[in-house]
Amino acid sequence: LIHAPNPPLRIFEDDLIKWIRRRIPSSEGGALRLGIGHDAALIHSGTRDWVVTCDQFLEGVHFLLDKDPADSVGYKALVRATSDIAAMGARPRFFLLSLSLPSGRAGAWLKEMLAGMARASRIFGLRLAGGDTARSPGATGRAALNLMVLGHAPERGVPGRAGAKPGDRIYVTGILGRAQLGLEMLLRGMAWRRKDRRLLAAHYYPVLPLNFGLWLGRNHIPSAMMDISDGLSTDLARLCKASGVGARIYADQVPAVKVPRSFPQTAALAPLTLALHGGEDYGLLFTVPKRRISRIPRHFGLTPITSIGEVVRGSAVSIVAKDGRVSSLTPGGWDHFAKS
Ligand SMILES: [Mg+2]
Repeated sequence: LIHAPNPPLRIFEDDLIKWIRRRIPSSEGGALRLGIGHDAALIHSGTRDWVVTCDQFLEGVHFLLDKDPADSVGYKALVRATSDIAAMGARPRFFLLSLSLPSGRAGAWLKEMLAGMARASRIFGLRLAGGDTARSPGATGRAALNLMVLGHAPERGVPGRAGAKPGDRIYVTGILGRAQLGLEMLLRGMAWRRKDRRLLAAHYYPVLPLNFGLWLGRNHIPSAMMDISDGLSTDLARLCKASGVGARIYADQVPAVKVPRSFPQTAALAPLTLALHGGEDYGLLFTVPKRRISRIPRHFGLTPITSIGEVVRGSAVSIVAKDGRVSSLTPGGWDHFAKS
């Protein structure tokens, strides 16, 4: 693939990134402390390190105009981008917004979308520092948001994805699969009861474990860290690949969403499936050397912190079932290009 003269027709996200970085100067070094391959870039400047990331939020890809409230679109677009700052243990400071809008979306929709974004920016302590606007052409034009977020890196450096070592324990924050269950409820047009509304909130208004990320960064605890944006199975594989290690996780330790009994009993809605492969929970996935695991709390505020397995030698990522059976954990989360 790397030597292919033209971009391959069937591409996967990780392969596309590899293909691009071969063609544009992108090597780490000097002020670029960490570059492509982590959740955000780490750039040294003066006495301070900055963490920088950008993220797209596109109508028809990341949100659906007829299903997602406009304020959720603005809120979630900023959550998504800021999650990569949290993944570095960094403190969000400023963001830039590039906005492409069809003419019909300039009124009430825009106002509501910006209200959602303003709410997220207040929660995360972010200030808008600039951006760009363009009109999306034609009557069928779609809205597109592109957000760049800058944050202050912790003084003792950021973990990045590449530092996991065999023997380290693997942790996740929060309950996994909640956002995916909310999305399934919407896509399947499922009926739900009032008390199941919180599952929709997990999809519309995810909460970032920002303070816990800061605590981890400040105390220099993880050997590697990233956010879970595309699903545990996919993101754990990425962390392992970046670190040159394998992993073994235990099915009965994965903190999976509770699926209401009134919901259809299908494979796609099984708690473990949702927890392993569902995206957009925006929790943290991190590894901790044995000598530091006593410092990990069971909860941080209201957020549960759960050990789900350990880092192993080699490159295999496997899952141990309740009955002790070991099988390989195939990435089944979100890959923009695999599913297109
Ligand atoms: Mg990420």
